[in-house]
Amino acid sequence: MTLEIPRPDDWHVHLRQGKRMGDYVRAHAAAFGRVLAMPNTIPPLTTPDEISAYRELAREAAPDLDVLTAFRLMPDTGGEEVSALADSGIKAGKYYPDGVTTNSKGGLSNWRQIESALAAMEASGMVLCLHGEEPTASVLKREEAFLPVFREIREAFPRLKMILEHVSSAAGVQAVIDDQGPSAATVTVQHLLFTLDDLIGGSLNPHLFCKPVVKTDEDRKAIQERILDGDNRFFFGSDSAPHEKGQKESPHCPAGAYTAPMALPALVSWFDGVDALDRLEPFLCEFGRNFYGLPSNRGTVRLERRSWTVPQISQGCVPLMAGEELLWRVVSISAV
Ligand SMILES: [Zn+2]
Repeated sequence: MTLEIPRPDDWHVHLRQGKRMGDYVRAHAAAFGRVLAMPNTIPPLTTPDEISAYRELAREAAPDLDVLTAFRLMPDTGGEEVSALADSGIKAGKYYPDGVTTNSKGGLSNWRQIESALAAMEASGMVLCLHGEEPTASVLKREEAFLPVFREIREAFPRLKMILEHVSSAAGVQAVIDDQGPSAATVTVQHLLFTLDDLIGGSLNPHLFCKPVVKTDEDRKAIQERILDGDNRFFFGSDSAPHEKGQKESPHCPAGAYTAPMALPALVSWFDGVDALDRLEPFLCEFGRNFYGLPSNRGTVRLERRSWTVPQISQGCVPLMAGEELLWRVVSISAV
């Protein structure tokens, strides 16, 4: 059995910097047509020039992959800067609470710090991508503890497009369902498929350790239900976050799951397994681009139902589900 779909979108990726960046970009290009890169680089991506230089590096590595880049909202980002970013074609800005995850020091401690930036984002139709965790709360409650901020921003900016990135809890799912304005959530492979038991129930799996952490079966079910329901506010964003094997398997394991090499086969295998292949294409190719107001990608990707083992190492990293068998594989991708 084979399946051909338009080259899909991944609305949340980390491409990093330096010598491995090209490898990570190509890993996405092997399965996707467009990605939204997150700006938690050092220094962070905050200006049109920095962003176009970063996109140029990505383009050199994989000319067929459309790499969009969010800018990072800093405590001093103002409305004029946002307007300049919007004029240069940038579609999204990323909100990191201070210290919440990899390279997020110097982030925001209060959304009111960026009121004028948010007003400019709303006026220009930009998307606010939220890392929705309150870093001072207990780890399993961090997403829920952030939701008052989500609601306060909505009250102040009724037309602002907001995405609760890598939604991980039933409370987060419910906040998006209940929201009266234009909001959505990105869904990762790990939050769709796994729970805390997979992370720490047996021997610790550092390659599944990410922020926000995978949670309970109830939380996973709430996410799965939205996807199976075909809810257009829930679409794919992998949060693929490469860290080299030695770092992940150290006493100071950083947060992040590397999913670029296995995300698409894992998703197709899951949708097939729950007899919902008809939900796959909207989740991967339609809902997200409609939310962002962008055209569909050219080209297609072909998949085949022939089992495949996720490699033990890819681009120096251990991918999620390394060594495990998936039912589907990517056969080929074409940009035209
Ligand atoms: Zn991320």
